[in-house]
Amino acid sequence: MTSPLKRILMVEDEPDIQAVAQLALEALGGFQVRICGSGREGVQAAPAFAPDLILLDVMMPGMDGPSTLRALREQPRVAATPVIFMTAKVQPQEVAEYRALGVLDVIAKPFDPMTLAETIRAIWARHRPAGAVLAAMSENFAATLGDKLSAIDAVWEQLRRSWEAEALARLHRQVHSLHGAGATLGLGALGDAAGALERALAALDRAVLPDRQQREQIDRLIDALKLTARTTRAPRPTAAPVMPAVASIAVRQRLIWLVQVDPALARDLTAQLGHFGYHVQAYDSLLELGAQAGKGVPGAIITSADVLDSDRGSYEQIAGFGVPSDQAPPLIVISSQGDISSRLRAVRAGAAAYFVRPVTTVALIDKLDALTAQSVEEPYRILIVEDEPIAANYFAETLRQAGMHAVVVNDPNEVMQPLAEFRPDMILMDMYMPGCGGLDLAAVIRQQEEYVGIPIVFLSAEASLDKQLEAMRLGGDDYMTKPITPDHLISAVSSRVLRSRTLRSFMLRDSLTGLFNHTTTKGHLELELARARRHQTPLAFAIIDIDRFKSVNDRYGHATGDRVLKSLSRLLRERLRQTNIIGRYGGEEFAVVLVDTDGPTAIVVLDEIRAGLAQIRQQADGEEFTVTFSCGVACFADYPDAPKLADAADKALYAAKRGGRNRVVLAGPEPLVAS
Ligand code: GH3
Ligand code: MG
Ligand code: MG
Ligand code: MG
Repeated sequence: MTSPLKRILMVEDEPDIQAVAQLALEALGGFQVRICGSGREGVQAAPAFAPDLILLDVMMPGMDGPSTLRALREQPRVAATPVIFMTAKVQPQEVAEYRALGVLDVIAKPFDPMTLAETIRAIWARHRPAGAVLAAMSENFAATLGDKLSAIDAVWEQLRRSWEAEALARLHRQVHSLHGAGATLGLGALGDAAGALERALAALDRAVLPDRQQREQIDRLIDALKLTARTTRAPRPTAAPVMPAVASIAVRQRLIWLVQVDPALARDLTAQLGHFGYHVQAYDSLLELGAQAGKGVPGAIITSADVLDSDRGSYEQIAGFGVPSDQAPPLIVISSQGDISSRLRAVRAGAAAYFVRPVTTVALIDKLDALTAQSVEEPYRILIVEDEPIAANYFAETLRQAGMHAVVVNDPNEVMQPLAEFRPDMILMDMYMPGCGGLDLAAVIRQQEEYVGIPIVFLSAEASLDKQLEAMRLGGDDYMTKPITPDHLISAVSSRVLRSRTLRSFMLRDSLTGLFNHTTTKGHLELELARARRHQTPLAFAIIDIDRFKSVNDRYGHATGDRVLKSLSRLLRERLRQTNIIGRYGGEEFAVVLVDTDGPTAIVVLDEIRAGLAQIRQQADGEEFTVTFSCGVACFADYPDAPKLADAADKALYAAKRGGRNRVVLAGPEPLVAS
């Protein structure tokens, strides 16, 4: 998840806290941090440092937090910069007062250095939805409130005339949804009034007409609800400074600058890195680089160690070319020297990695992948099952602002398809919905093998412990009570998804290549086939097997063999991005499900990859060699089910081997068997 939050100014008088915060924010959080020891110093430094965010200690000698805040607000350049207070005094009363001053949030001291950066990111991320999104939704809600109340009136009238369990259930749902939405949107009084009515309704016997006293109580509660509705107004969001959207999933550069690397190595790296999706731009000199200033920021810069020794420039100069210093890309140094003092010099000059020639391509790719990792990070996918559109959108928007993908299902009966196709990391499920309650739905989902591992978190305005325990027993992993603050929602969702993704990646993935393992690949094949059948779209299944791989092991050793497997897996991932499923099928066999792809197209794609692998120079200490693969492809609907597809692809692979290897073969349609 990326955030535009980069520069943080911290005003704090205690040296110990300064040191811990610096570590937490700079080393762990990756922020650029400037620390000031007093309010006065902070006010002076702020305009020039131009922070994205200011952290203000509340208790400071001289100018305290609030007076520093006032002084900052008077400086045009930082007047709108968001501020977070830090304090050891966390009485709710004071927190409310601080918020009223317009600060984003209040962080309690002592803070946990391991999570400080995450906490700040979460506050930053939910900042907009808390204001703008919420305001729009409250307005929308207010506009439809009259209709909702009339509907409640009508059903209650009908019930008084003839008592029916079905109508009572409908009334209960209507009131429940007001309760939940009111709470969600910060219309506390309205939510409370609906909550009281909801409890009274829940206490009624469905089968028996309530007595006069009970009826009068409901009448009174409905009147109270209507009165509250007339007097509540949507809360005005605090004037929030405009923030750039947080959800932009980094288009982190795939561009790499090569600076002052000798021409032969530059040519070689350009070709080799190109196979793995990196675009290399080589510059012979700083002068030449200077002419490019301002034209984009690379994901990394690779340079030769000589730069350090020469008078032609320094790393800092290179990194600084046309790039704001806080966006300076990581530097990778290539050197012919591996001694400690050369390495030390590179580290001191700010190098993120150091390679001794000859450079192993796979190792360099691994490093580049890690250094530009944000672009590979997949956003968390959250499925929201909630019948109340306002609440559903509120949750979805909040999560989207934090960079996640959220899909909403309003009708619980329609959950199966998005579940299969969106493949959420987690489900947020409303407890009460018409037609099918959250508990039943969770039980249904849990009965299907492939969804056993997806965390389900229930959302409800219901605070009863019994209900919560029941929810857990039926397979819910957790329970959140509405109203839920955006902060809480984001942090609760992220921590659970992270945990389950980590767990799942151990179970589902092959440890050497990080690709899906055999079982998971087959599972995905089944899923994709089902989808192809439903949408009548094509699908191709390919099995790839490295040629004469045994001899690679025999000749260069098993470790080199492993590196070859990794380079092929990396190549497949690069060329078959996103929707295609890539698995390690066996030792040196890989399988690919190409969705929405017909046979001829699959052949073209796979043959390009085949040609690509053949050009990648594999390295084994001192020696270089290339490897090839053979590939068999079979298509749906030539073969109607997964076992037949797999079998046909396997036979085609065998044909490719027999035909001389280093080729791709498409299985012909299944011959019709005469009966
Ligand atoms: P062919 O072209 O017919 O496929 O020849 P081949 O040598 O690739 O075929 P064979 O199936 O006989 O050998 C596969 C070899 O792959 C055997 C095994 O040593 C090697 N292998 C399997 N898994 C791994 C692994 O994880 N790492 C390494 N280094 N080698 C592996
Ligand atoms: Mg509901
Ligand atoms: Mg084999
Ligand atoms: Mg083989």
